[in-house]
Amino acid sequence: MPVKMPDMDVDLRFFRDRNYERMQCPSCGCYYWGIKGKHQRCGDTPCVEYSFIGAPKTRHRFDMASMRETYLSFFEKRGHTRVARYPVIARWRDDVFLVNASIYDFQPHVTSGQVPPPANPLTISQPCIRLTDLDSVGRSGRHLSNFEMMAHHAFNSESKKVYWKEECTAYCHELLADTLSIPEEEITYKENPWMGGGNAGMALEVMVAGLELATLVFMNLKLDPKGDVELEGDRFGPMPLSVVDTGYGLERFVWVSQGTPTIYDAIYPDVLNEFFGISGVRPPSESAHPEVMAEHARLAGMMSVSTTSKLMEQRKGLVKRLGERGIRLTLEELMAMLVPLENVFALADHCRCILLMLSDGIVPSNVKAGYLARLVIRKALRTMEELKLEANLADLVLLHLKTTQGIVKLGESEAVLRTMLDLEVKRYRETTEKGARMVRRIAKESKGVISVDKLIELYDTHGIHPTVVQAAALAEGIGLEVPDAFSALVASRHAAEKKEAVATLELPPEIPQTRALYYEHPTMRHCTAKVTHVRLEGNGVTGQQGHEQVVLDQSPFYPEGGGQHADKGSIENAGRTAHIEDIQKYDGRILITLEHPLGLKVGDEVRCAVDWRTRMALSRHHTATHIIIGSARKVLGPHVWQAGAEKSEKGAHVDVSHYDRVTLDQLHEIEREANEIVAANLPVEHLSLPREEAEKRFGFMLYQGGAPAGPTIRVIRVGDFDTEACGGTHTSTSGEVGLIKITRAERIQDGVVRLEYSASMAALHHIQIMERIVHESSQELSVQPDQLPKTVKRFFEEWKSLKKDVEALRARAAKEMASSLRRDAERIGGYGLVHIKTELDIDLARLLSVAITGAEPKFVCVIPSSASGNLILSSGKEVALNLGDVARDVAKEFGGSGGGKGNFAQIGNLASEPGQATHRTDMAASRAAELIRALLAQK
Ligand SMILES: [Zn+2]
Ligand SMILES: [Zn+2]
Repeated sequence: MPVKMPDMDVDLRFFRDRNYERMQCPSCGCYYWGIKGKHQRCGDTPCVEYSFIGAPKTRHRFDMASMRETYLSFFEKRGHTRVARYPVIARWRDDVFLVNASIYDFQPHVTSGQVPPPANPLTISQPCIRLTDLDSVGRSGRHLSNFEMMAHHAFNSESKKVYWKEECTAYCHELLADTLSIPEEEITYKENPWMGGGNAGMALEVMVAGLELATLVFMNLKLDPKGDVELEGDRFGPMPLSVVDTGYGLERFVWVSQGTPTIYDAIYPDVLNEFFGISGVRPPSESAHPEVMAEHARLAGMMSVSTTSKLMEQRKGLVKRLGERGIRLTLEELMAMLVPLENVFALADHCRCILLMLSDGIVPSNVKAGYLARLVIRKALRTMEELKLEANLADLVLLHLKTTQGIVKLGESEAVLRTMLDLEVKRYRETTEKGARMVRRIAKESKGVISVDKLIELYDTHGIHPTVVQAAALAEGIGLEVPDAFSALVASRHAAEKKEAVATLELPPEIPQTRALYYEHPTMRHCTAKVTHVRLEGNGVTGQQGHEQVVLDQSPFYPEGGGQHADKGSIENAGRTAHIEDIQKYDGRILITLEHPLGLKVGDEVRCAVDWRTRMALSRHHTATHIIIGSARKVLGPHVWQAGAEKSEKGAHVDVSHYDRVTLDQLHEIEREANEIVAANLPVEHLSLPREEAEKRFGFMLYQGGAPAGPTIRVIRVGDFDTEACGGTHTSTSGEVGLIKITRAERIQDGVVRLEYSASMAALHHIQIMERIVHESSQELSVQPDQLPKTVKRFFEEWKSLKKDVEALRARAAKEMASSLRRDAERIGGYGLVHIKTELDIDLARLLSVAITGAEPKFVCVIPSSASGNLILSSGKEVALNLGDVARDVAKEFGGSGGGKGNFAQIGNLASEPGQATHRTDMAASRAAELIRALLAQK
């Protein structure tokens, strides 16, 4: 099929000037740009081997900070604006949790053309987290879970052309060949069209000495079913913008400049030394064969390790290669040498990842980004176990503070980070212990097969890692293969976990947008409006009587949204009034459901009346919510982030990320802080700002309630205390909120705390209810309210001690009754039968049967508890009768339910009709005794 590929060619004047030609790689068949006579292959592994290990390719040696600075100032000098890095948690997006690449910072609003970029062109060094290769980290010598992507971006539109392929490639080459002095014979450009996140474009991979140092993407296509470009089965059409999207791996640049055996040695040598010191593992340079690591890295560069078999293959290959170089090692000797080193590398990497995640505000939990943080923390803890390393995880994580100075600012959050990690370690230990017990049970039940799906379920639902499953399964004699890339597998299932889709109603597209009068005139209570659409709820499906629903041209009523309940009110037409049952917004149209049909038609004029009491209560609770979030952040720490909220007429709640329970003292502190803000009577401002300006002024703190859509953002500011993007209704000052009372705090899931509160009259109502409870309780106990805690405690202690006395008395009574009953027992052959008719409660009946049959191995007891309609049958251990059968026979005859087996059985529910219970239970007891007597006589 002929494929039209506009703008996919990279035949650049720049290449010609530098004597670069397009050639085809004889080993992989790809097309690349190189210099004839100098470049025989594409420059990528496995076509060539790493040639920089032991032979650095830049003139100077760089560390992280100097390479980052060299890069950013290179582009600054060439007209780019330096932009500060974004957080690793993508607060401005609702489709992903973590930032994977620098372009994520500008998706979707800038790349879609809705919002101008913060600068154009710009340069940035963006920390990124990618957990897809988590299991290869440490093993390959080059994989990282976190890295900095240096980039230069240009956004070209119809009206503004910045630069495109020629300039982009020339900048890159100038940086490599001229500024860093990498010899041209080491640099090739491999053609490889790029696709991702619904966009695509031509791309060049920049190869140096076998390592991909950078990718230059010329993004100008987007997914479009009607588009005329086809790439790997998907159709693409043009984008409004043409985006120069580049990515330069900072860590890889540093590595190539040093030529160390692994990337880890190059990027944080000092931290690594400390890890070696603490773990007692000898660094490669001190081992008997320091050259093994270099050889390992060269070979590992050729392979991607995704399965255990591949890993073994690679290691066998290494033994062979070492042999050819005169180093004789068995596979076992090699493993004994490599595995501890790999664990140290992995641990150092994971600790830096944890520092980035937590310092950017992620709180470990079981959901969303918190889940991914916990995944990395637990992998670090397991690596520590493998190394038998008895250190504090927080100490190890904080070792990286020195190497991340340019990108991490921790300040006073250091204490929070420590507490968070200590709690995580504690939870991990608890889970591991619980998990081992659980797996032993599952292993027994599963008859030798535990599937990968089961492994994932155990990990996801119970936090039990496959290594725990493996150990426990082994103890039950079950072998179990853990997928080699398990962490990556689990991470990938969670990385794209999107917000749940809400069922939405499709209104005909021709219905015009409803003007939102509640924004334009926040104090408007009455108005007239025109009906633009009428429908029956549920579209009259299967003849059900639907409610009348209308869309108006303008609405003073606030529709449900942003966790705030809809307004109440009424609509009047031709002298008839209907109350409003519900108000929803669909794509800019506000749909109002009426309690009674008014028979409205399109074009009718209606009078709208907003129920102001309800509106004020909703507004107070919404403003109170912003104040509570600000107060919680102040008291608990900057990691507090809103995870959900609901504001109703009667009260509100907000869910915030926090690693622990909130104590009563902390609650009171938050409440006090909130009421200070109320008392200060700060103005509540409503701003409508372009997105880029809002972000510039207030930062991503704005997106507490989620990332809003569109180029314009409504911002609510409570003085300088709290600023949030928000679409709700608010009071005009903080004082109008009135008293804020927190009524409850609850840990609703790991890492998330729900705070419930109410404001003004609703708060007063709550306080009055509490007062009534205290009043009634103290009256009941005849004490003053302040004596309640002491009195209740005393009563409770007394009750406990009385209960103990009663139990002791019961036991004594049972023992005494037992000894007299044993004497008077009926004899049948060598056996004894005790059948009593005394009125006993069920506990005493049980105690008695145990006392008798425990002392007399050849006795059988028939003990009714007439009042509760139960009958207990029990026998000593030398009586071979199945009492369960007897119980079931008797139950069949008298009604009730019989169950049990062997030496103990019970019949219950004989008291179905009050008054008859005693009689029926006694009859059943006599029948049971009769059956047992007959059975014993046969023995
Ligand atoms: Zn090739
Ligand atoms: Zn809000």
